[in-house]
Amino acid sequence: MNSLVQQNVTEFVYLASIILFILSLKWLSSPETARRGVRAGEIGMAIAILATLAGAGIVQYTWILVGLAIGGVIGVPLGLVKTTAVPQRTALSHAFGALTATLIGISEYYVDVGTVRMTKFDMVEIALEVIVGALTFTGSLIAAGKLQEVLPQRPITYKGQNLISLGTLSLAVLLGIILMFRPGLPWFFPAMVVVSLGFGVLLVTPIGGADMPTVIALLNSYAGLADALLGFVLHSRVLIVAGALDGASGFILAVIMCKAMNRSFTNVLFGAFGQLQTGAGKGVEERTVRSATPEDAADILKAASNIVVVPGYGMAVAQAQHKVRELYDILTKQGINVSFGVHPVAGRMPGHMNVLLAEADIPYDKLLEMDQVNSDMPQTDVALILGANDVCNPAARSDPSSPIYGMPIIDVDKARTVMVVKRSLNPGFAGIDNPLFYMDKTLMCFGDAKKFLGEIVQALQGHQA
Ligand code: NDP
Repeated sequence: MNSLVQQNVTEFVYLASIILFILSLKWLSSPETARRGVRAGEIGMAIAILATLAGAGIVQYTWILVGLAIGGVIGVPLGLVKTTAVPQRTALSHAFGALTATLIGISEYYVDVGTVRMTKFDMVEIALEVIVGALTFTGSLIAAGKLQEVLPQRPITYKGQNLISLGTLSLAVLLGIILMFRPGLPWFFPAMVVVSLGFGVLLVTPIGGADMPTVIALLNSYAGLADALLGFVLHSRVLIVAGALDGASGFILAVIMCKAMNRSFTNVLFGAFGQLQTGAGKGVEERTVRSATPEDAADILKAASNIVVVPGYGMAVAQAQHKVRELYDILTKQGINVSFGVHPVAGRMPGHMNVLLAEADIPYDKLLEMDQVNSDMPQTDVALILGANDVCNPAARSDPSSPIYGMPIIDVDKARTVMVVKRSLNPGFAGIDNPLFYMDKTLMCFGDAKKFLGEIVQALQGHQA
């Protein structure tokens, strides 16, 4: 094929993949079309990769194949992790994406520095791309460590923390500016890379457990931004558009997460939300709770007219979604109205609960958003909480001293009866005690969510027989 035709074909395929990426994002915004959205994104990415591999710019395939083999060895097991580990896997994906952008930026610098090809504008592109890529790489590694609980989830703060963090970022930017005028200065470029890597660590380490949803979304956005900047460095339109879409969607998600937690960006980045309450466990032991057996729970559910199920991370851990479906079927057959209150930050990734409930074929129209479900709560007979904790902690509403004060929650405590299915009185991700468990109207259903629900279902079937 002559090279002009080949170039046109490549550009045409890139255009098709860009259209597929845009459609993918549109379809992903609704549960009904989400599967189609995933397919469109996959096809868009596959044809973009194939067009690049077949393009004229490839000198030889050997190193590409080596890279593919190494990537495959790392990527396949990462793709097979349990759904509960997806958030940390996502953080690692951001880290790898950002590392790639950083390494390519570094190689572009060393290939072009000292040649006429390196203009001021090129140096700015490379510096920006490497700074964003490097801080996203280390920031994402820290986030993955916190989510995997190999690093402490609590915010690690120290005196002058914000000053040191901002100083480090300013130093990286300053080095970039100096390089713009004197790209060949020895050690400035590696120093900029190291300082940016350090800034990523300083950026995420002080952020506590409960703010992780926003951090993950923000890192997603930074990784997209690094890719878009890399697109400028490599003069690749498809990379610019794909990176910009990724960056913008990550940013929108971060805004949604901040809204869901009633937090501002500056508050997330410079605050210390989700700090473990010291001595939170002490008072817990002294207070009493009322507990219920699966048979008690079945009796209460059978007598209700309106039930709101509030799923949380524990439902994901127990993989209880199919039991939830069985319970839903039995109760709705008896004419009981069952709906689901889904908090935007329930679970460990945005949309976590929606994905699990969709997997169990719970009708989409039964999944209500927080505002909607809260207005119905006073008329609700039973709020059934399945492995949720932080997202229904009334301290967020009533206790100004609580670290989660101000975060909108699902107001389960306003229902007539509250049943909480979880294994113990242990706190959730934010590490804070939950006064809900000690309320008179609350019944604690201690056990693994899947097992406990299975026993409720059995008891209800026994009643039917
Ligand atoms: P929480 O983490 O607050 O609580 C989950 C509860 O599930 C725990 O208290 C645990 O109690 C219980 N649990 C664990 N395993 C089981 C099991 N097998 N059966 C029954 N219960 C179980 O979850 P929420 O969904 O309420 O809140 C999400 C939290 O995660 C928020 O703080 C949010 O900010 C944070 N987060 C959210 C992200 C997102 O994008 N959605 C990302 C990162 C963090 P016990 O041990 O007693 O069973």
